[in-house]
Amino acid sequence: MSSARPSDPLATDVQFLKGVGPKGAMLLHKLGLKSVEDVLWHFPRRYQDRRNLPPLSMLRPGMEATVRGELVEVKTRPIRGGRVLISATLADRTGEVTLTWFNQPWVARELNRQRGEIIAFGMVKEGLRHQLEMAGPEWEWIDPEDEADDFARLVPVYPLSEGVPQAIVRRAAHSAVAYFAESMPDALPAWLRKEERLRGVAWCLQQMHLPDTLKEQQEARRRLVFEEFYLLQLVLQLKRQEAHKEVGISFPISQLGGNRAASPHLFDAPSVLDEGGTLADEVAHMLPFELTGAQKRVVQEIWEDMERPMPMNRLVQGDVGSGKTAVAACAMLAAVRCGYQAALMAPTEILAEQHAINLKRLFEPLGIRVGLIVGKQTAAIKRRQAQLTQTGDIQIAVGTHALIQEGVKFHRLGLAVVDEQHRFGVRQRLALRNKAVGNPDVLVMTATPIPRTLTMTLYGDLDLSVIDELPPGRKPIKTHWKRPNDRPAVYQAVRKLIDEGRQAYFVCPMISENEKVQAQAAQDLHYRLEKEVYPDLRLGLLHGQMKGVEKEEIMARFRAHELDILVSTVVIEVGVDVPNASVMVIEDANRFGLSQLHQLRGRVGRGGHQSYCILVADATSDDARERMEIMVETTDGFRIAEKDLQIRGPGDIAGTRQSGALDLRIANLVTDGRLLEEARQAALRTLERDPALSLDEHVYILNKIAQQRDETALITVT
Ligand code: ADP
Ligand code: MG
Repeated sequence: MSSARPSDPLATDVQFLKGVGPKGAMLLHKLGLKSVEDVLWHFPRRYQDRRNLPPLSMLRPGMEATVRGELVEVKTRPIRGGRVLISATLADRTGEVTLTWFNQPWVARELNRQRGEIIAFGMVKEGLRHQLEMAGPEWEWIDPEDEADDFARLVPVYPLSEGVPQAIVRRAAHSAVAYFAESMPDALPAWLRKEERLRGVAWCLQQMHLPDTLKEQQEARRRLVFEEFYLLQLVLQLKRQEAHKEVGISFPISQLGGNRAASPHLFDAPSVLDEGGTLADEVAHMLPFELTGAQKRVVQEIWEDMERPMPMNRLVQGDVGSGKTAVAACAMLAAVRCGYQAALMAPTEILAEQHAINLKRLFEPLGIRVGLIVGKQTAAIKRRQAQLTQTGDIQIAVGTHALIQEGVKFHRLGLAVVDEQHRFGVRQRLALRNKAVGNPDVLVMTATPIPRTLTMTLYGDLDLSVIDELPPGRKPIKTHWKRPNDRPAVYQAVRKLIDEGRQAYFVCPMISENEKVQAQAAQDLHYRLEKEVYPDLRLGLLHGQMKGVEKEEIMARFRAHELDILVSTVVIEVGVDVPNASVMVIEDANRFGLSQLHQLRGRVGRGGHQSYCILVADATSDDARERMEIMVETTDGFRIAEKDLQIRGPGDIAGTRQSGALDLRIANLVTDGRLLEEARQAALRTLERDPALSLDEHVYILNKIAQQRDETALITVT
């Protein structure tokens, strides 16, 4: 993290900090703190307010308090299961409080090491014998000799790892602030600090470690969060600028109609364009429904991008069922009508097949040829499909990652669409793009609603379109949370819907990530439902261990209503579209994450019928209860995503392990959304003033983001 050069005082080794020394340095190394600069940027996780410590007689149950007192007695008592309960009595002149720790024998050893005063922090409650008690408090010895531990103030509490005492970090930070904070160059240019009314970095570092008041600490934190977002946004915006400088394809969309200059090979099809119609006319002709306002807006944005000479890099976000496929079809139609090929890459074979079926239905009447390329095809078929793609006979190629395999070459690829992109690695996206001669336009579609703060961080270099409207006539899905005991009633309710002519999904519990184990669970559930619950109905089974043809056949039968119930693993999570299926039962729903539940639920509610999602789950934890409750409460994917972000943190949400850019030092994506927006605006203003950051006042930024670029390089489409 250290950006300092050897001559730089900030690069000074931590062992030279006053009160640290070689032994202390070894402890600090455990926290990854090597230089003074590292220490300055290692922030407290909270503060202990020692300014007005309450006398013990003032404590009341329900208070969260920091207290000081003499340790008078430490007891260790064995309890059930070979564990121990430690209790210590803390006393001052006014009263007493009992501190307890559950099964942490090392606490007892540490408490017995010496006599003296300690500081403890925790929640006060009423103990068994009506005495005041703090369970599992944080605590530390008071060392009146220690200068860094100057007493009656807000004292920083640092994140630690095992064996590293609070005191050593405090001492290091204290001396780093005192002797080195002033040498920290300010990453924010003076003009920006003035505009945004932000304090200098030295003051902020000082207030973060040794705040005068919490108000000042917050002001300091605000500025540092701003800085962190600002630098990240600069990186992303610079990348975006660079991408825009590249030369791509300019699709002559607005000139389409009437006098098209077209290669007869690709255009032997009759089209409304031949009668002088516009591309929009042809879309209206092609689709069986009218696009929603949101779809039209997004299609317009895409077409405008395609017409520009620079390569398109656009992310389309739309909740499940918002109609992204139709939007992709409009983009692909534009590419084909301009004389190019388009490719659509989907993450699973089921999904690729389904896309191929849907797109054939749309495009074949227009004389546009759609071809499917998936891994499970025989070598002969694959070779044939690859050949047709290379000659340009296949104008729209749909497939899985098989599309990007060696053998496949395109005649003239102009547009690459990637569906459900979070499931693909960056490398695979790049590979698809590289199938083209030159720079094709890239459209990335995702159904995982990503909170805006995350989008801006992860995909800040992509242009964003949001389909924020569902097709008309959809009735919101009704979601119910039922306990395992209610199963008979649930089964009865499903039967009633099937009697009315609907179809149902049963999703089996996800016991493990292992596909074999999951397949077994699905088989068990299928067996039980077929033998014990619905012997008279037609049930099908779908899981990841089945062969491609088998899966395809089952899906085809379910689509054709030859099956009433489809029992499945999460393989149906993505993209499956059977409008007559109006109820989904998710067994042991507490085992699924929020966005997964939301994706699963998106398989129903696709037709005009009232649809239902039934979550069968015990509330095994607060977390599980919270997930069930939010699912019942809302079908809004963005709200669910925000909630998910709160529960799980950003790394998991993005569905990417390559979340280097999300290791934010101080900013919090859940709570600092507004600052992120402000920082983004500031980054844009900065680049307006100084597009290459070549002014003197921006030199430091340029250095700083050179490092960050490498860290974010992994996670964006380049
Ligand atoms: P997703 O965004 O989840 O990929 P799809 O593209 O699968 O959504 O569309 C969901 C369903 O809505 C499909 O059955 C599709 O035919 C239908 N649909 C899409 N757009 C419209 C529209 N404008 N009017 C009516 N139905 C639509
Ligand atoms: Mg889709």
